[in-house]
Amino acid sequence: MDFKTIFSILKNRLSDGDDVPSFFRELLAMITSVSEADWGTKKDPSSRVKDDTLRSYSKRGLTKAFAKSIVYRLTPERLTSMIQKRPPALRQALAEDFQPYNDSANKDNVGKIVADLLVEIIRTAAGIVPADELIVIKQQETAVELKHKYGELLRNEAGDCCPFPGCGRALFITNGDKAIPSYEVCIIDKGKGDSITNLIALCPNCYAVYSVDTDKAKTRELNAVKKILLGHKESARLLDNLPLEKGIIAVISRIRKLDEKDLEDATLDPKEIKQKLIRSESYALYKTVNDYVSTYYVRLREIMVNLDKRGEIDYDEIQDQMKALYRRLKKTKKSREEIFNEIVEKIHRVTLQEALYCQIVVSYFIQSCEVFDAIA
Ligand SMILES: [Zn+2]
Repeated sequence: MDFKTIFSILKNRLSDGDDVPSFFRELLAMITSVSEADWGTKKDPSSRVKDDTLRSYSKRGLTKAFAKSIVYRLTPERLTSMIQKRPPALRQALAEDFQPYNDSANKDNVGKIVADLLVEIIRTAAGIVPADELIVIKQQETAVELKHKYGELLRNEAGDCCPFPGCGRALFITNGDKAIPSYEVCIIDKGKGDSITNLIALCPNCYAVYSVDTDKAKTRELNAVKKILLGHKESARLLDNLPLEKGIIAVISRIRKLDEKDLEDATLDPKEIKQKLIRSESYALYKTVNDYVSTYYVRLREIMVNLDKRGEIDYDEIQDQMKALYRRLKKTKKSREEIFNEIVEKIHRVTLQEALYCQIVVSYFIQSCEVFDAIA
C-alpha cells in the first residue's frame, strides 16, 4: 500500500469534512511527536509547511527528507488508540476498506493495522528498509543473545527510559500492577563488535528504525548518548558507598515551606561564588547557584543551625560528607556542571525530594566552601 492510498482512505473515514492540509496535519500530529516546525521541508522553520506541499504529499507520497525528519519519532500507539476511540460502525467501515490489504482487519484491530501500515510506509519513504531476510534473522538472533547477556544492565544504565535523542519512552509496559520489560539491545556502531561499551538499550520503535539505518550521523548521536550514560554510571558508582545524612530530608522539607516573605529580608550578595565558578565558562551554572545562594543561603543556614542544636542533624558531619562527595568526583576530571548535577542526583536518590530543592542544597554548600575549590 502506498501513502496516497492510505491517506485517501483515512481522509474519507476520519476527516469529518476537513480539507487535505488540515487532515494531513491532524494525521501527522497523531502518528508523530515532531512539531510542524521540524518537518523536513523547512525553508523557514518558524512558519507552517505550505498547504500546497501537503497536498502534493497526499498525491505523490512523502519525500525522503520529510520521512527522515519524522521516522524516529513515530507514535503508532497514539494513532491506534485515537482510531479505536471512534464509533464501532465507523471502525467497521474502515476495517472493510483495509480488508483487501489485510484480510484479518475488523473493528477491534483496525487501529493497529492502520498504524502499523503507516509506520511501514514512512520508514520505507525514509529509506529505512530491512536488509535481506537472512541478515534480518541473523540480526534478530544476535539481539536476543545480547539481551539475554546484557539486557538488564543496559536497561538500568538507561534509567528505564529509551535514551534515543528525542524519544524517552519507558522501557517497560505496565499491565495492571505488573511492569513488563519492553526494549531491545542494539549495537551502536555496526562496524564494531558487541562489547558492552558499543551496546545500548532502546525501545522497540527506535530499535526497529536504528538497527537498519545506515546514517552515520545517527551513530555519532547515539555514541554521544552512550558516553553520557557511561559517565553518569561511573559517577553514581563512585558516590554509592559515601554516606549522606538522612537528616537532609528534614532540611529540604523546611526549604519547601519557605515563602517569599520569609526570604525577601534575608538576601545575601554572594561575592564568593565568583571565586568558585567562572561566569563566562558556565554561565547557566553560575546564574543558578548565584540566584539560589542570594535567595536561600541566610535562611538555610538558620535552618541547619537550628536542626543541629535540636540534634536532628549533625551539621559538621553533613559538611564533611559534602566535601567527600566533591573530592571523589573531582578526581574524575568531570566538568563543574557534571559535578553539580551528580551531587544533586545523589541527594535526590537518598531523599527522593525534587531536584529543584536538591540544587538549592548543593548551591548552599558551594557558597559555604565544601563543594568546588576557589579558582587559583
Ligand atoms: Zn525510543
